[in-house]
Amino acid sequence: MRIACGGVQHETNTFSNTPTTVADFARDSGLGEDLATGDAIVRLYRGTGTIQGGMIAGAEAAGVELLPLLSAHAQPSGVVTAESFDRLLGMFLERLRKVLPVDGVALDLHGAMVAAQHDDAEGAFIAAVREVIGPKVPLVVTLDLHANITRRMDESCDVIIGFDTYPHVDMHERGHEAIVLLARMIRGEVKPVQVYRQLPLVTMPPMQCTLREPMQSLMAFVHDLERQPGVLTATVSMGFPFADIADAGVSVLATADGDKALAERTADAIANRIWELRDELQPKLTSVDEVIRFARDNTQGLVIYADGSDNPGGGAPCDGTVALRAMIEADFQGGVVGVLYDPETVEQAHKAGCGATIDARIGGKTDDRHGAPVECKAYVRTLSDGKFIHQGPMRQGFPGEFGRMAVLVVGGVEIVLASRRMQLLDAEMLRINGIAPERRKLLVAKSAVHFRAHLGPLASHIFDADTPGIHRPDFANYNYQKLRRPVYPLDPISTP
Ligand SMILES: [Zn+2]
Repeated sequence: MRIACGGVQHETNTFSNTPTTVADFARDSGLGEDLATGDAIVRLYRGTGTIQGGMIAGAEAAGVELLPLLSAHAQPSGVVTAESFDRLLGMFLERLRKVLPVDGVALDLHGAMVAAQHDDAEGAFIAAVREVIGPKVPLVVTLDLHANITRRMDESCDVIIGFDTYPHVDMHERGHEAIVLLARMIRGEVKPVQVYRQLPLVTMPPMQCTLREPMQSLMAFVHDLERQPGVLTATVSMGFPFADIADAGVSVLATADGDKALAERTADAIANRIWELRDELQPKLTSVDEVIRFARDNTQGLVIYADGSDNPGGGAPCDGTVALRAMIEADFQGGVVGVLYDPETVEQAHKAGCGATIDARIGGKTDDRHGAPVECKAYVRTLSDGKFIHQGPMRQGFPGEFGRMAVLVVGGVEIVLASRRMQLLDAEMLRINGIAPERRKLLVAKSAVHFRAHLGPLASHIFDADTPGIHRPDFANYNYQKLRRPVYPLDPISTP
């Protein structure tokens, strides 16, 4: 049994001014300029806490031959250029045609990619793959919990399996599930019927977190339904609200074995439960001044201020300075801000050397929506190559690279700077720079939720930041033009 797998993953923030190109995918994928195929993908991912790692393990468990074709991902950013999308899809289809015939195809996609010519880029991707393999070859797709799932995605494949966790700590499990289910379909053991429901609802990252209520209870409810005889899988996608497209927001999928009515009942039960929770899913934000006061008085350990507004994991610049400036002005002692994207200042620090004092101009360089650069004298404490291995439950064992890094000290605040834009989601990202976060008072994390998987247990208190930015969890911040209406909470809706 031969299963082809692969995909192109991007979470597109349509409010970002930074377009995404093939060069970004080539740089971020770790598979070289030509996005290497086959064994190179297996070598990079085997044994890691990723979708690809899970698919490799699933294929070994199910005794099937896996043919990894393409694994391209780029850091979340602006719209993927038309030419780049066509090239990546073309590359995937060309590699797929070369290995035909196959018994099944597993795609690992994100579900919130927007290309210049396709608001629903994954819908276009899946439909193109379906056209090449024909209607009879089983096609299973994995998606992120932040997928903006469309009718076209649902109709172009047999089964969609979304992540059940945010922080995304079940990627390996979901990849494994996809291959094992696909193998059962190929053997004729199951006949999946998938039902799709889209809610008139958009939600913001802080409360989509499955470590918090109400999501924790909601997912327990979903898992109970998944255990019913005849139900194969169910997916809750909370959606990615930083994309101005018609289909942004919450959707549900349920898949049963040959029983459409059961799939419908299951999907409706989940959709109804989410609708009941709509007000609990709206976040509460805390001002910088308030958190500085709180952290000063807090004697119980680390306070984390989740600067989700500037989360690079959702396409924000990651060089916002609002919280940093406030901490310096308040003469806060024992603060850390990280990881902030500023290749120029990193370069300057490396040239000056460890122990030097430089005239720095930190952050605020990408646009004018995240605070101005902070101009100050800064002490160069630590320099590093930015290479690390993920130690936390998310992407465990997978190598990461920030490019060169530097830790600058201004007053009582350490600023962790990187040459590559990437989300702070693993304590190792600080530790390689000589910072033990548990021994600091206040950490401003450039992350909305993912930091909670590994850094959360080190914190005594966590607050969601009230800062400006293109990932700010506040609907008043966005002027949606294409989003379907009416949609809650932008419009009053009493019943779905
Ligand atoms: Zn996500």
